[in-house]
Amino acid sequence: PWTIEQVKALVREFPDFPSKGVLFRDIFPIFREPEAVECLVDHLVERVRALGQRADAVVGLDARGFLLGPMIAGRLGVPFAPVRKGGKLPGPVARVTYEKEYGADAFEMQADAIAPGQAVVVVDDLLATGGSCRAAEELVAKLGGSVLLNAFVIALTGLEGAKRLRAPVYSLIEC
Ligand code: IMP
Repeated sequence: PWTIEQVKALVREFPDFPSKGVLFRDIFPIFREPEAVECLVDHLVERVRALGQRADAVVGLDARGFLLGPMIAGRLGVPFAPVRKGGKLPGPVARVTYEKEYGADAFEMQADAIAPGQAVVVVDDLLATGGSCRAAEELVAKLGGSVLLNAFVIALTGLEGAKRLRAPVYSLIEC
């Protein structure tokens, strides 16, 4: 069986991707090792259980939050709800716009994705400035829910993304 330290070691860094000066962290090598994925999901589920409060749903961010989110939700036996880039989800949606490096972007959730009063865990691969996750927190609030925890594989602590978020942050790797 894999240890969580071995799982962490699978994350790779690519300089100058997707543009010059950016050091991109790539979690996909973890997905080449089925038992490493199990170890990672176990670890994140354990962090959720350690909150001592019931999570009613798991919310995953477009796109790599869709990899781990449903697995975590499955282990917890609760629904998964996606946050998608604007214009991708059918039916009534809640929408939040947020500032990115180059202009504004929009995130949406289906209006019936979570019920008022539900407490959720937000999942993504990486926390940078916190702009995306902050938008997800706002979407959850618009639907009448609240965020118990924002969970990531990696947090770039120098960017202080956690400070922009309302709910607490857990990240397996801090760099
Ligand atoms: P933020 O909104 O600035 O916190 O950026 C986080 C979003 O950008 C997440 O959805 C990440 O998937 C993505 N992202 C930013 N940098 C990286 C990286 O180095 N590797 C993978 N995803 C990244």
